Amino acid sequence: MILAKVSKKEASAFRRKLLSWYGENRRDLPWRREADPYRIWLSEVMLQQTRVETVIPYYERFLTAYPDLIALAAAPQDDVLKIWEGLGYYSRARNFLQAVREVREQYGGCVPENPEDFGGLRGVGEYTRAAVGSIAFGRPLAVVDGNVKRVICRLFAIENDPEKSSVKKEISRMAEELLDRVHPGDYNQAIMELGALVCSPRSPRCAGCPVSEHCAAFAQGIAERLPVKSRKKPPPVVSLAAVLIMREGRCLVRQRTEEKLLHGLWEFPNVERGEGTVLYEAFADLLGCPVQLGEEIMRLSHTFSHLRWEITVFMGEMRAAAQLAPAWVAAGRAQLAGMAFPVVYRPLLDYLKQA
Ligand code: SF4
Repeated sequence: MILAKVSKKEASAFRRKLLSWYGENRRDLPWRREADPYRIWLSEVMLQQTRVETVIPYYERFLTAYPDLIALAAAPQDDVLKIWEGLGYYSRARNFLQAVREVREQYGGCVPENPEDFGGLRGVGEYTRAAVGSIAFGRPLAVVDGNVKRVICRLFAIENDPEKSSVKKEISRMAEELLDRVHPGDYNQAIMELGALVCSPRSPRCAGCPVSEHCAAFAQGIAERLPVKSRKKPPPVVSLAAVLIMREGRCLVRQRTEEKLLHGLWEFPNVERGEGTVLYEAFADLLGCPVQLGEEIMRLSHTFSHLRWEITVFMGEMRAAAQLAPAWVAAGRAQLAGMAFPVVYRPLLDYLKQA
């Protein structure tokens, strides 16, 4: 029977099949062996916008360094960012650290069970609130992530753009109706697992799907073209020039202070290249003293969700006695190894190791 409208009977048959499939097919992931809310929360933060295979080693390293909430709450942000280095979306790490400190101060170190309290912590959005609430505390909260959206669009043959706010609302309502209120944690993980393993974006494996008889898109033969996607414009390119300046075997770096992007990570001197930018002048303004630019050593690029960086890196020199603007430090190899840099600079750090 198709889930065109969710009757109680159909919804319950759907849940039964989904949960039974999950019981037999779920992947053995480290956070699924955990009951500690702090560890479950960490996994949910890391898994946002990031693949499971990428997350596993980060998750394990993180817990080796900070096995419990109190250990993390006492950690310096720089150390936490270093462990997060390469996982991206660094505001997740900063917010998680801040939220964990709030838990230590306001809730005696115990992750609050009440969804309202938990949802009031720094960086905890709807998804994290529902995921941690249901998995760690058995609260009947439906998660809606990319996998769930896709599965629901197909189950109900929704042919409108799921990013539109009216459609988003409808999907959330359907997710609520389908939720198993007795086993919300398992149910939420089951529907996400179905999206990850069976109802995949490009080629859904409908023939082996445990809920195919409830699926409108399968019945209509339109599963592969759902959910519909609005065409996204490519992100704007920001063209930058960076310079590698060595002083007695150490190179100049500073910690980023820009609130929105990569705050707290380290960077090499860099300037945006607009029309008419005179590079040596722009670097002199940035560093507080004249810089002589040498040969180009490499080109780097990185695409964020909202923009793309293209960076040309030059060798540079400055007088040994030049007075630098505040914030710039000359770091040796050992120091650099302990600093967290945006992933775009990895080739440059490798270059320095070999230099
Ligand atoms: Fe997805 Fe196909 Fe299963 Fe429908 S039948 S939920 S489209 S895998």
